[in-house]
This record gives sequence, structure tokens and C-alpha cells, in this order.
Amino acid sequence: MNAPELVAIDAASARLSMRWPDGAVSGLPFVLLRSACMCAQCRKRKLDGDTPLSSPDVKLLEARPSGYGLQLVFDDGHERGIFPWIYLERLARDQQNAADHQQSRTL
Ligand SMILES: [Zn+2]
Repeated sequence: MNAPELVAIDAASARLSMRWPDGAVSGLPFVLLRSACMCAQCRKRKLDGDTPLSSPDVKLLEARPSGYGLQLVFDDGHERGIFPWIYLERLARDQQNAADHQQSRTL
């Protein structure tokens, strides 16, 4: 199990910061997390082809550790999604890859 050693809500940059056991630090934007929610309600919306409910200025109010991951509480009243550590790790890696890709493109 690869759970972060540190989880912090950084309201200033609108990111959830996590420090992983290997020393890597990731910052996932609230809006990305909100649209990545995998709860039954959000999954159904995605299956139905509806646009995600997330607004660009959605805020993360709480990140509650819940055993195998984090329960994220958003200011739009959405608090049912549990984000397993492995899913958060994957989102963080995808984001890092996207950033690397962008960087190599501008070089
Ligand atoms: Zn959801």
C-alpha cells in the first residue's frame, strides 16, 4: 500500500498536496479531483455522457483519511467520493506526465 506521508489542502493554489513515501510531492488541482470523482453518482453522469458537475472554482473543504484512501469534501456539497490512494497516485502521475510532456514540447 502506497499511501502518502503527508496530505494537505493548499487553498492558496487550489491544490491537494501529497508527499509520497519515495519523496515525490504532488499537487492535484481541486477541479481535477472533482471531475475525477468516481462515486456512483458521478460515474453514472459520465456513462450518461453528461458534462461533469465541476465548476472551475470548486473548492476542496476537507480530505478525510478513510483507510484505503481519502474522502474528499467539496464546497458544492459533494462528499460521497472516496479516492483510493492508488487512484490518487495515478492521477498525480498522469498530471506529472502531462507536465513533462508539455515541457518537452516547448523545448
Ligand atoms: Zn462524485
